[in-house]
Amino acid sequence: MSTGIRTIEDVDCVFPETLREALAALADGAHGTRILAGGTDLMVQWASGVIPPPEHVVSIFHLPELKGIREEDSALVIGAAATHAEIRDSVLVQKHLPALAGDLPPALLITDGVVVVASAGGEREIPLTEFFLGYRKIDLRPGEVIMRFLLPKMPKGGRELFQKIGPRAAQAISKVMGACRIVTERKMIKTAAIALGSVAPTVVRLWDFESWLEGQKLDEDVAFEAEQHVAAAVKPIDDIRSTAEYRKWVSGRIVRGFLEEILK
Ligand SMILES: Cc1cc2nc3c(=O)[nH]c(=O)nc-3n(C[C@H](O)[C@H](O)[C@H](O)COP(=O)(O)OP(=O)(O)OC[C@H]3O[C@@H](n4cnc5c(N)ncnc54)[C@H](O)[C@@H]3O)c2cc1C
Repeated sequence: MSTGIRTIEDVDCVFPETLREALAALADGAHGTRILAGGTDLMVQWASGVIPPPEHVVSIFHLPELKGIREEDSALVIGAAATHAEIRDSVLVQKHLPALAGDLPPALLITDGVVVVASAGGEREIPLTEFFLGYRKIDLRPGEVIMRFLLPKMPKGGRELFQKIGPRAAQAISKVMGACRIVTERKMIKTAAIALGSVAPTVVRLWDFESWLEGQKLDEDVAFEAEQHVAAAVKPIDDIRSTAEYRKWVSGRIVRGFLEEILK
């Protein structure tokens, strides 16, 4: 029986030596060309039929412009081809963006940072809060490659936390995941950024809840009330990973846990 899977030998896969060559190859192929980084998503989607087998693939993982983690005055710059292990183990990340050791989309969203994308026509910057558009949909145009992320450092008085709820500790797909960046001054919540994943078609910031939280004095009562607010605010679905009811409950518990941890 034919699986319809195109083998790697059938694919026109290019390994450009420079960014300029990569962008030219992407511009040539436009809609029919897929970018390949580590391949963990692309190969699985391709083999399982989630996406049609690509005709052209441009590998970008080795390009130096996409590598590395560096510090600027008030932000860290993370290359699109930095691996998750590099990010997790980076002393800079541990100091300034500790939630990035967790699942990346919520941890990116709480920073209010930007993503820089490039095409043969030049670069553009997109706020991360506008980048995730929907299920498997980001604000990336044909011919564009993600270059790097500019992520403001956690401010003085800030705490970043993340939590992932999955069926088991190792290699588990999340049922719900969350990250927060909360800045307090003498227990008053100055700013709050909270993002959850797997409770909507794409990762979400809890804007209304953040507004409710800001300006409050953090104590056990606020943490308890927060749990109810968050559980009511999220509108997840039942799917193969979990149920809507469980996700609502656990979303509230995650955020209450963040606040209780900051209270300690
Ligand atoms: C079994 C499994 C479990 C997973 N569990 C988790 C999890 O628990 N938490 C989690 O956060 N993620 C999880 N993931 C997702 C995982 O994070 C992604 O597979 C991984 O981040 C993709 O990185 P990659 O370099 O392998 O990308 P690839 O597979 O090479 O590419 C993924 C997609 O991004 C595009 N792309 C890649 N690089 C660029 C670029 N620079 N610019 C523009 N487009 C680009 C590709 O064209 C492709 O569409 C899981 C995936 C699998 C298969």
